[in-house]
Formats: sequence, structure tokens, C-alpha cells
Amino acid sequence: MIPPVLPTYNRAPMAFVEGAGPWLVADDGERYLDLGAGIAVTLLGHAHPALVAALEAQGRKLWHTSNLYRIPQQEALAERLVAHTFADTVFVTNSGTEAIECAIKMARKHFDHEGEPQRTRIIAFEGSFHGRSYGAISAAGSEKMVKGFGPVVPGFDHLPFFDLAEVRAAIGPETAAVLVEPIQGEGGIRALSREDLRGLRALCDETGVLLILDEIQCGMGRTGKLFHHEWAGITPDIMTVAKGIGGGFPLGACLATEKAASGMGLGTHGSTYGGNPLACAIGAAVMDVVTAPGFLDGVSRAAGRFRQGLEGLVAAHPDVFEGVRGEGLMLGLRCRKAPADVVAAGYAERVIAVPAADNVVRLLPPLNLTDAEIDEGLKRLDAAASRLEAAA
Ligand SMILES: *Cc1c(COP(=O)(O)O)cnc(C)c1O
Repeated sequence: MIPPVLPTYNRAPMAFVEGAGPWLVADDGERYLDLGAGIAVTLLGHAHPALVAALEAQGRKLWHTSNLYRIPQQEALAERLVAHTFADTVFVTNSGTEAIECAIKMARKHFDHEGEPQRTRIIAFEGSFHGRSYGAISAAGSEKMVKGFGPVVPGFDHLPFFDLAEVRAAIGPETAAVLVEPIQGEGGIRALSREDLRGLRALCDETGVLLILDEIQCGMGRTGKLFHHEWAGITPDIMTVAKGIGGGFPLGACLATEKAASGMGLGTHGSTYGGNPLACAIGAAVMDVVTAPGFLDGVSRAAGRFRQGLEGLVAAHPDVFEGVRGEGLMLGLRCRKAPADVVAAGYAERVIAVPAADNVVRLLPPLNLTDAEIDEGLKRLDAAASRLEAAA
């Protein structure tokens, strides 16, 4: 018999009832060290005081009005994002998927508006993940995501991840945009090199194609810059953000230059919930913490310590792990065992990691992890690996 909750997830049995910082407490009283952060979402850990304060203060005042009226909290969030990025304008959503939908629609509408309506095709990449809407699964294009759901949305060209020469060859008179994750998350923490990011930007400039970066997982300070593309010294035309931006509250955003957004006039797009006062008050509080002086330096420092420890872990357990990949606090352990087994061994040691494709287990901890918490995480991961060796 089908359960009340639609059974689309293979869930671990733990049910968490409370959280503080990187710690989660299950209903049986067990404490888990959360190095997955709900898939890169609880950016500042659980129950961060500044976020709880923003939630409580706004929660008592006003939750929702709709976009029929000005929303000062939405304006405050958008102004912060514009002040700290390439973007001139922001559409606020409830999720990453909706940010992707906005980005895809915006790119096509831009060319329609600019008198090149034939430019509708979007280049996307194998192994990518952009969400679960028709636009997002059509963009990703993988068999796993689209099987049985056809017909998918037309107009996407899929290329291997990542060969700049193939992108150049694939760009034609109908190409509107290139959509890419600078670091694939679900795909197994596979990063574009700085050189490829710069090459892609130059190629888009040369061909007049819009560059859409999906920073839903790798952005919001996760790699030690507010957004990952900053490391390459480039900017996109459109960027999707979500996950960490709400610190655990459902929130996303589609950021764009004025030029890329040229077609998005009155009435072209909308959302009932998107950008409501409650969500945006929390998002603005997250932005304030992440952009405070020294915060991102702290991320890079923590990342250095964590990565060094993980390299040691791989060296100590060559039968379990093959190597470390990723940047900042978006890290992956390439496994020689099934990632699901590694994650399960972690649960047994009360540490939470997240499986990904390409035999990778992801570590996406809160960005404000202390040295002691990093060391505790490494200790537990080490115990999990020993557990797997003992079982072999
Ligand atoms: C999670 C994710 C999405 C989808 O976001 P939702 O909030 O689940 O809709 C899109 N792109 C990337 C890179 C993601 O990691």
C-alpha cells in the first residue's frame, strides 16, 4: 500500500527533532554531527541565533502580502545581492528549481526581445543537476531524470562535462545560452577549472551567447568567495542561487545583468510566494552574516584544515577511499566502496555525509564549523572507514 508520503525518496531511518550548529538530535536522543547540512542548505548550522532572531521578529509582524505590493524585505535582500555581485537585478523564488526556470525563460526572452527570436537553444552538460521541473530535467537531460516523463522541453543540447572545444563547436545561430554548474554537486563534486571558466566566458562574449551559472550548491560562500566564479575573475550574465541563501528556509534567486534581463518586463514572470517578507528577512540575515568582514576568510581557513584531514583519511584508508576532490567546503571523497555503504557507516558513527554520483560522498558542512568540530568530524569519518574495513 502506498504510504501517505509519496515514496520517491529512499530515506534513512533517523528522524531529527532538534539542531544546534552542526549537531542534530534524533528522536532516540542520539546526536549526529551534520556534515551534509541538508545538502548545503543550513549554511550557518542549525538554529543560528541571527537567523532565529530574524525569523521570530518577522514571524510576529508579517509573513505574506504577495508581489502585488512593494516588499521592503525583498528589496533589502535584492539590494544586498546586487551590492555584492555582478548582478543589476534579482527575481526571488522559493527554490533552486524555480530560479533555474526563471533563468531559462529569461535567456530565451532576452533574444526574443532583442530581435533574435531564433536564438532559443541552451547548451547544458552531462552529469548536471538543475532541479526537477520540466525545464530543469530537460536541461540536465539524464536518462535517470527524464525516463517515463517525456516529452521533455525541447531546445537543450547536451555536451560532456567539460570540453571547451566541444562547446565552441556546439554553438550555432540558434544558441541562446550555456547553462553550467561551476562545480557539479549531485554529479559528484566535479569542478570546472578556472581556465575553463575563463575560456567559457570569452567564448560566450565572442558568440553573443548568455552564460548562465548555476551556483545553487557551490555559491553563498561555500568555496570561500561569495560566489564560486569570483575565483576565476569572471562574471556570468545570469546566475541561479538557492540552498544556502535561506540558511534552511525555502528561498532562491535568479540574478542577472540589466542586459540579460532586458526581456523581462511587466507581467512576463511571477510567483505567489516568491520573495515573501518572511523568507526575505531570513535571506537578508544570511547575507549579513556571510558578507561580514572576515567570514569568508574563515571558510577558507576551515576548508584548508578539513581538506588536509581528509587527505590523511584517504591515505589511512586506501581500500575505502580513492581521493579528495572539490573546493572550499564543497568536498567529495571518491570511494572504492559503494557511496551508500560509506554514508551508512557514517550514520553508525553518528556523522552525516551525502552520497553523489561518480562514486563520491559529499561533505557540505555549515560554513562556520570550528576547528574542534572539523577534528571531531574527521575522527568519526575515520571510525566509519575502519568499520567498513572490518566488515570487508
Ligand atoms: C539543489 C540544486 C538545484 C535544485 O534546487 P531545489 O531547491 O531542489 O529546487 C538546482 N541546481 C543545483 C546545482 C542544485 O544543487
